[in-house]
Amino acid sequence: MTTPSPRRSPGPARRTHSFTESVIREMTRVAREHDAINLAQGFPDFPTPELLKDAACRAIRDDVNQYAVTWGAPALRLALEEKYAAFYGMAIEGDREVTVTCGATEAMAAVLLALVDPGDEVIVPEPFYENYGPDAILCDATPVHLTLEPPAFRLDPDRLEALITPRTRAIILNTPNNPTGRVFDREELEAVARICRTHDLLAVTDEIYEHILYRGEHIPLATLDGMRERTVTVSGASKTFSVTGWRVGTIVAPEPFTSAIRKVHDFLTVGAPAPLQEAVASAMTGFGADYYDELRESYRERGEVLYEALIQAGFGCERPEGAYYIMADISGLTDMSDADFSQWLAREVGVAPVPGSSFFSDPADGRHLVRFAFCKRVETLREAGERLRVLATAGRD
Ligand code: GLN
Repeated sequence: MTTPSPRRSPGPARRTHSFTESVIREMTRVAREHDAINLAQGFPDFPTPELLKDAACRAIRDDVNQYAVTWGAPALRLALEEKYAAFYGMAIEGDREVTVTCGATEAMAAVLLALVDPGDEVIVPEPFYENYGPDAILCDATPVHLTLEPPAFRLDPDRLEALITPRTRAIILNTPNNPTGRVFDREELEAVARICRTHDLLAVTDEIYEHILYRGEHIPLATLDGMRERTVTVSGASKTFSVTGWRVGTIVAPEPFTSAIRKVHDFLTVGAPAPLQEAVASAMTGFGADYYDELRESYRERGEVLYEALIQAGFGCERPEGAYYIMADISGLTDMSDADFSQWLAREVGVAPVPGSSFFSDPADGRHLVRFAFCKRVETLREAGERLRVLATAGRD
């Protein structure tokens, strides 16, 4: 006779206990509730380019409506080969080294589930985009935070090296960076590469903003010496082609990593939306340099409008080098916490940001910060600027 093993009642698994709801998406709901301008969640309020919309409709009409090849539509994997060669001189094999996922979000989760073991440590620079810590925790790994000091948010190699233990498995690097706006330069990336090589670490890069930068250059870590074989490069269509709702993400990784990643991806989602993969492939092959120049210039203008508005309203902030966010210091405006101020700003002023604490492991570090997204029409940003003016007026009273 066997004794029944003690069973837990139905309820949330332990690995979910430390997660909170996504603050970014919560602020989108708050913005809707108060009819505020949503400068919280990073999604465009302007139309997707016609080429993509036409190509997606065409694919649906042509009956590309069943599962795509699990690893990604052949046309898209081929387009990625051409893209990485043309932009970065990076030779990749679409058949063996590419996986197409449901957004960069699934990509990051699939990569860590495939390549990180329970008990491993994963280094996450902070401030961070909110998914990386939970992604590590889903693997029963531990996120270890590497502080990037404001206002420059430079990556300090000594600090990084000091965090490495025998359990360290990987470092996650997001450049251009959400939320700081940093574009890590060659010196910083070379230092990361050296440390990865010395300590035999995996690098996982989130390069979703690779085409949105105003200063410096985007250097995929995988292109540095000895890094191709230890780097997984994540990106996707969401930001480059203004299709955040399409959920088309991409992973480039050496073949042995890719086989593991493909298995996880297969069991998680089977595949990314088939007709939308065709449309993204059309955009990658159809758009020339002018598309990417125009993308950058339009974001530069939007960023400038928001930056001026924030400075005039009394926030402390720097112009971002890349991506489409500005982290703003609220100390000169209020004693409220970032969370209270964000709610207040949405309710009373009609502009919703994201509380800074959601980008830090210790919420106290972000208490005086809020993040604004500027992936919005210039008119939307000007209107937000008009509304934010009341802060400057209030300050003078
Ligand atoms: N990356 C975007 C942001 O930081 C969108 C986040 C999300 O909702 N997935 O706002």
